[in-house]
Amino acid sequence: MSVSVRDALRMAALYLMLAVLWLVLSDQLLNNLFDDPADLVRWQWANGFAWAGLSALLIFVSRFRLLKFIGVGARLRREDRERLRMAAAVFDSTQEGVLVSDRDGIIVHVNRAFMQITGYQKDEVLGQRPSKFKSGRHDLAFYQQMFAILAEKDEWSGEIWNRRKSGEVYPQWQTICAIRDDSGELTHYVAVFSDISAIKHTERELAYLVHHDPLTDLPNRLLFNDRAEQALTAAQANKRGCALLLMDLDHFQSINDSLGHNTGDQLLKAVGERLEGLVGSGVTLARLGGDEFAVLAENCSQVGQAAALAQNIIDGLKEPFQLDCHRLFTSVSIGISLFPSDALSAEQLLRNADSALFKAKQNGRAGYALYTEELTAHAQQRVETAGELRRALQQEELRVYYQPVHDLLSGKMIGVETLVRWQHPQRGLVPPGEFIPVAERTGLIADIDTWVMRQACQQMVEWQTQGKRLDFVAVNVSSRLFAHRDLYPQVAQVLHDTGLDPACLEVEVTESAVMEDPEIALEQLHRLRELGIRLAIDDFGTGYSSLLRLKRLPVQKLKIDQGFVAGLPGDEDDVAIVRVIIALARSMGMQIHAEGIEQAEQARFLLEQQCDMGQGYWYGRPVPAQQLRWA
Ligand code: C2E
Ligand code: CA
Ligand code: CA
Repeated sequence: MSVSVRDALRMAALYLMLAVLWLVLSDQLLNNLFDDPADLVRWQWANGFAWAGLSALLIFVSRFRLLKFIGVGARLRREDRERLRMAAAVFDSTQEGVLVSDRDGIIVHVNRAFMQITGYQKDEVLGQRPSKFKSGRHDLAFYQQMFAILAEKDEWSGEIWNRRKSGEVYPQWQTICAIRDDSGELTHYVAVFSDISAIKHTERELAYLVHHDPLTDLPNRLLFNDRAEQALTAAQANKRGCALLLMDLDHFQSINDSLGHNTGDQLLKAVGERLEGLVGSGVTLARLGGDEFAVLAENCSQVGQAAALAQNIIDGLKEPFQLDCHRLFTSVSIGISLFPSDALSAEQLLRNADSALFKAKQNGRAGYALYTEELTAHAQQRVETAGELRRALQQEELRVYYQPVHDLLSGKMIGVETLVRWQHPQRGLVPPGEFIPVAERTGLIADIDTWVMRQACQQMVEWQTQGKRLDFVAVNVSSRLFAHRDLYPQVAQVLHDTGLDPACLEVEVTESAVMEDPEIALEQLHRLRELGIRLAIDDFGTGYSSLLRLKRLPVQKLKIDQGFVAGLPGDEDDVAIVRVIIALARSMGMQIHAEGIEQAEQARFLLEQQCDMGQGYWYGRPVPAQQLRWA
């Protein structure tokens, strides 16, 4: 409109200029040019007509322009209104949320979709800032970068997580544009966004389908490989071992052939479910295809552990499967490959497990084989041990040995530690290191530890009646048992049955057992302490004790691990560690006991450091009760 006004003004100015010019020129020129007054009158007439014509023309033109301006202006306003209406309709009916803010970030407009997506009403957000919707999922750097791009390019698009009024956090795909006026001045920001939680959900579903076997719902080969790679990287960093077990059902094809694929599928599904129960959590189980399953056990550094897991699976799958109308028996063959001893990559590990599986099948199926042959024999021996150990307990093949503990200052024997051995009919005397781990895995340890404790208490009572005086008899309690709440009643029962003064019984718990679950440990130790028994922390220095926690434990003694005693008095590190442990124990009012003393200098050094008591080959090896030497 302003353009047309300017035109009209311009036209009027031109008309005025011509009029002035005419007035100025008329007087002088006309008088000079025409001598004859008749000519002058004629000229004035002619000019009068010309002037009137020009005026009429100018008026016509200006009026025409004015009319045009009015007419066209009206049409323009109509179109603009139309366009605005359409924009508003689009703005309101679009699926995308739209938010308009002024240049200071104050919200001035939102559309209907915005309200639907965010759950906020207009009046709840107008005058507010978009930071109201922050989810807390993005850090400061994210927003800083967003504004930097917006400032540089006047536009930013990306995924952003915001929060609905309900509190729910959801993903948006958002585009923010800076709006500038004719002179380039920033006036507004417009943010257009869509709720992509549905897309994300579909993406997740898709990812799930890509990575899982639809029949058993277990991870498929793709995901298994992925997890295996990750596990190996982590294992390498933590210097840990992993085991890969590759399983194949024996004679599955004949089930498929004779009973049909439906039954075959049902069996595979049932096998998958049972396997999940057998391998437990913390292990990746996958169906690689057909009747082939795989297990990746992280934190499995010992052959025996992998073999025990395999045997457990083999035994577990021997139980019949009750399908709709069939009772099916199946068995499985397993190939085992270990990281890092057999292979360093997931791919190689899988290949080695495959050739081990081949060996297992050749060996007559329903068994396992390790990639390294010598290991197979060794592992089998270990697993056999589990079965034999049960028998050993029943047939009383276990023996208790006692190792003397001496007071460092007086040199007198003041106590003994009870150490178990297994008198194996073929293998001879088996040290605890070879069967305690098996017993721990199979749960037999509870029976063994209680049995040993009963023997020790009975023996102590016997010595006392013989007039042989000792301050204490110590027994070891496995961390497995320690986590159980039945330790307290068991100890109480043994003390009751044997009649031993509780003050004479010392229970040793390893530092790592205490630290595994410090809260349970604290509770257990307090309960045991209520019985009046003594408590000691075994192998101290090998775990990662929190000193604060240590202070809260109702423990009377720390046993310095023999690993630190071995280097005394030459090794500077050992000297430093032992000094610190002794200082620590003294500051907490605990007794200090060194184990593994093999030389006189070690005993002397420890005495100098004010260590209370010691144990080791220098004083005497573990022996049966009747061989213990009494001074
Ligand atoms: P531990 O409790 O640290 O026992 C000390 C081990 O060090 C014993 O080994 C002992 O024979 C050995 N030892 C003692 N003096 C010396 C020495 O001067 N030099 C050297 N090199 N070694 C020495 P052992 O009898 O083979 O027992 C090994 C581990 O088995 C024990 O370590 C303990 O953790 C476990 N253990 C033994 N008996 C039982 C039991 O009844 N129950 C449980 N849960 N664990 C037991
Ligand atoms: Ca011990
Ligand atoms: Ca120890």
